Amino acid sequence: MPIYEFQCKTCQFCFEEIIPASREDMPPCPRCGSSENVVRLVSACASQPGRKTESTCTPRGGFS
Ligand SMILES: [Zn+2]
Repeated sequence: MPIYEFQCKTCQFCFEEIIPASREDMPPCPRCGSSENVVRLVSACASQPGRKTESTCTPRGGFS
């Protein structure tokens, strides 16, 4: 089962989900609960060295 990475554009939160091949809808963001602005990443978060893949991906400097 493939694990995909997603990012919520609403709150810039990155998360991973195991998505069955039959599923096409986006999972809801675990932080804000919205799935409207969730996009699937192409291993952008995991490719950053020295970072964990869970909640440390904030490429835009985050939110204040
Ligand atoms: Zn969110």
